[in-house]
Amino acid sequence: MSTKEYVDKVIAEVKAKTAGETEFHQAMEEVLNTLVPYLDKHPEMIKAKILERITEPERTVMFRVPWVDDKGEVQVNRGYRVEFNSAIGPYKGGLRFAKQVTLGTLKFLGFEQIFKNSLTSLPMGGGKGGSDFDPVGKSDAEVMRFCQSFMTELCKYIGPNTDVPAGDLGVGGREIGYMFGQYKRIRNEFTGVLTGKGHEWGGSLIRPEATGYGAVYFLCEMLKAKGDSIKGKTIAISGFGNVSWGTAKKAVELGAKVVTISGPDGYIYDPEGLNEEKVAYLLELRGSGKNIASPYAEKFPGSKFIAGKKPWEVKCDIAMTCALQNELKGEDAKALIANGVKYVVEVSNMGCNAEAIELFHKANIPFAPGKAANAGGVATSGLEMAQNGEHLYWTAEEVDRQLHNIMINIHDACLSAAKEVGQEGNYQVGANIAGFRKVAKAMMDQGIV
Ligand code: GLU
Repeated sequence: MSTKEYVDKVIAEVKAKTAGETEFHQAMEEVLNTLVPYLDKHPEMIKAKILERITEPERTVMFRVPWVDDKGEVQVNRGYRVEFNSAIGPYKGGLRFAKQVTLGTLKFLGFEQIFKNSLTSLPMGGGKGGSDFDPVGKSDAEVMRFCQSFMTELCKYIGPNTDVPAGDLGVGGREIGYMFGQYKRIRNEFTGVLTGKGHEWGGSLIRPEATGYGAVYFLCEMLKAKGDSIKGKTIAISGFGNVSWGTAKKAVELGAKVVTISGPDGYIYDPEGLNEEKVAYLLELRGSGKNIASPYAEKFPGSKFIAGKKPWEVKCDIAMTCALQNELKGEDAKALIANGVKYVVEVSNMGCNAEAIELFHKANIPFAPGKAANAGGVATSGLEMAQNGEHLYWTAEEVDRQLHNIMINIHDACLSAAKEVGQEGNYQVGANIAGFRKVAKAMMDQGIV
């Protein structure tokens, strides 16, 4: 059997035993298909069934999360933690609270996290968790009660050397605070069991900015590799949450013109570009808890709101997905290419579907996959763990310097891994191989576990 046939067989078997987990299937196929040239040179990994093992989480916990809403009614949600792989460190990855969360969503995110965390070069395994709890429209007291109930169960499975959750969609500083408080109360220990904590109680400076800053640092390296620079470039970004905010903040600071943001209701086109005041307004918009982007257009008259559409129809040099999985599909890629896009950076996890990625490759447009470009968030979580371990705080400059170095190293690791298998300039292949080989080698060293 050729390596390609073997990989196809594993994909088919995984799909058959995880029916219905479509997002996980997409993420798994995306990675496995690119590993063929690497596995060709490593038959020992095929024999040790690394692919069969790496696609099966080490452990998954699913649990009931009962809580009482403000009207006194009992609500029941489902909580999850997928502890995917601990070959190179404790499970590490965020918690996502969103109505549409399923086991398949969290398995796709946990699977991506294995390779992303490996790329950071820090000792972190891969995991992800969350709940189908919908934070939109919930009062502060409801969010607190939910978080406390969620942590009452989750605290049995996590710990600073076991599994260290963080934020993701729907989980920010407030939720991390409520969960940390409950963990500390039940376990009677003050430890770095979560990252994304408030700075007063163990959080790292720059962690809120890190995903966006890291993505822009990665973009700058892509530009540099082509003898180009970010200055004066027009950038379309999606979303208006934490990741969009950090991305816009750094891009504007470095002289780019960010002309879009978006929400589930549509997108904002701001031809003048965001400035410091507008970037700061994104925090206000998010803080409103309404999950809509349209108020931006009322606040800043030069801009307009386009209902029900995505920002990928505007003319831009660079597109950066900062919202959700599969937010940029084939038809969006076609529109971007027709409008002359020069670089695409996936900042959301699996922001582009397979068809879109294929179109960018065919058009020779450098495409950065999320697991490389958005790794700055979890990397800075790793730096938060290091500070907690030392019982010290580092300065913002120190954290930012390390984050910047990590992103430069990830960029270079992607390019050199791609080159090794004869696919020069292919960040997707490079990220997957560079992320995979470290975890696979660790698994080989640790025996059949
Ligand atoms: N949720 C983020 C991610 O997708 C951050 C995870 C973390 O900091 O552990 O990488």
